[in-house]
Amino acid sequence: MLQADLLLQNGRIYPVEPAHLRAQAVAVKDGRIFAIGDDSELEPLIGSETRVIHLEGRLVLPGFTDSHVHFVAYALRRHQIILSGVDDWEEIRRRIRAGVERAAPGEWVRGWGWNQNLWGDGTFPSKADLDDIAPRNPVALNRTDFHSLWVNSLALEKAGITAETPDPPEGRIDRDPATGEPSGILREWGAMRMIEDVIPVPDDDAVNAALQDALAEAHQLGLTGVHDMRVETEKLNALRAFHRLYRCGELTLRVSCALPVDHLDEAIAVGLGSGLGDATLRIGGVKVFTDGSMGSGTAWMLEPYADDPHNYGMAIIPQDQLRDIAHRVEQAGLSLIIHAIGDRAVREVLDVLTEIRDENEGWRMEKGLRHRIEHVQIVHPDDIPRLAQLGVIASMQPVHVMDDWPVADRVWGHERSRTAYALRSLLDAGTHLALGSDCPVAPLNPLLGIQAAVLRQNERGEPRDGWYPEERLTVAEAVRGYTMGPAYAVGLEDVLGSIAPGKLADLVVLDQDIFEIEPVEIASVKPTMTIFDGRVVYPA
Ligand SMILES: [Zn+2]
Repeated sequence: MLQADLLLQNGRIYPVEPAHLRAQAVAVKDGRIFAIGDDSELEPLIGSETRVIHLEGRLVLPGFTDSHVHFVAYALRRHQIILSGVDDWEEIRRRIRAGVERAAPGEWVRGWGWNQNLWGDGTFPSKADLDDIAPRNPVALNRTDFHSLWVNSLALEKAGITAETPDPPEGRIDRDPATGEPSGILREWGAMRMIEDVIPVPDDDAVNAALQDALAEAHQLGLTGVHDMRVETEKLNALRAFHRLYRCGELTLRVSCALPVDHLDEAIAVGLGSGLGDATLRIGGVKVFTDGSMGSGTAWMLEPYADDPHNYGMAIIPQDQLRDIAHRVEQAGLSLIIHAIGDRAVREVLDVLTEIRDENEGWRMEKGLRHRIEHVQIVHPDDIPRLAQLGVIASMQPVHVMDDWPVADRVWGHERSRTAYALRSLLDAGTHLALGSDCPVAPLNPLLGIQAAVLRQNERGEPRDGWYPEERLTVAEAVRGYTMGPAYAVGLEDVLGSIAPGKLADLVVLDQDIFEIEPVEIASVKPTMTIFDGRVVYPA
């Protein structure tokens, strides 16, 4: 008689598919789900070598996958100055000062997470706000959305940015209108990279150690997979960093890696394609940016911003270039991972994809290639059905609704924001949803994302009925967005995403049943156990 390696019994197993099924027990053999059913049905699989875990009625779900995370970047940034969520200017300054005091003289001081909308009237900070507390260290602090960088005078000097420096392509240097002197804010990657390029990168050992720590945190949060959207600097290769761990058998996370479009020629030349690799480490697709972000006022809109009638946001890439890239990516058998936040950006992407579909005889979406739009933060009502029609995946981050809804109301206007974070409308139109955090833009915790999708409220419970509550998801739909949705998005739906015999045994056990408790409690639910490939990886 066959013996299971691991048997979880006396639990509530929610397999995701089929959605109505509940089971008590699940048996694991050789890293895969062997059986799911009642305790009594699976009892005969217990042998002398079987590890039996009594769940005491706890809920078991497939391990969560974060569909949009900058994991290596986050791993490295966990020990930097963290300014996320700080709404007090004095506290911002205090944290930066403490970070500067910890640094050696001349060492770069890095941090992230600031949001000028939280502490004031929305005015961006300046280099002068840093120069007095950091006269001897260059300082570079990313905005919460990573679309702007706040630096001091020494950092500008190190990068050689002066009043004479022209704006780079795909970026903007904020300046004093009178003198043209850079103010200390650099917008979008084209400008931010001028600083990034002069900051030393950590060595391999430091990256490995940081990744190991971040993996442990991911397991603690019930994550068994990520779609890595790469680091913001090309000097640090995320794929290589993951591969180093993979080679030693230490990559205990399913990672699908995006490739930077800057290296598209090389990727095509050597024949990289989406799905290359295995279920643990694989090539996802090619990441392309079409616009900026809402909070930086650079999301590309069909109509001007409500708070700035001259601003339509920013197209990061000319339309003909996007078309050319999209064609080449698709022809090469790579998936498109296209960042589009504003409704104009989303429409342009849909237009390009429609064109490719109509021109190509073999639209590869039908052959398993999965193109996706990242964020889809606001979509024109006319465009909502188009994602499903094209089979394009909406990769969205519900957690942003929590802090962003007042900003959306202000910069886009409440009426237009009806189709912002339109999770329900997109899902009902038949769109595949893949949900994530965009960490380090937002916390890595997938349960926070599930709560946000279900409530559409901030941490104080505002607005009371949820912001555009008709766009809320059910708990089951949100769970699917962190399990089956991501598996489908990278073509792994046959081996991941649900608890079914033959699938890889990636599981999470929760301390409370998120289907039973008040939704406002979901984010504080804790995984008690995370299983990757049939092995318990948390608790370690
Ligand atoms: Zn991102």
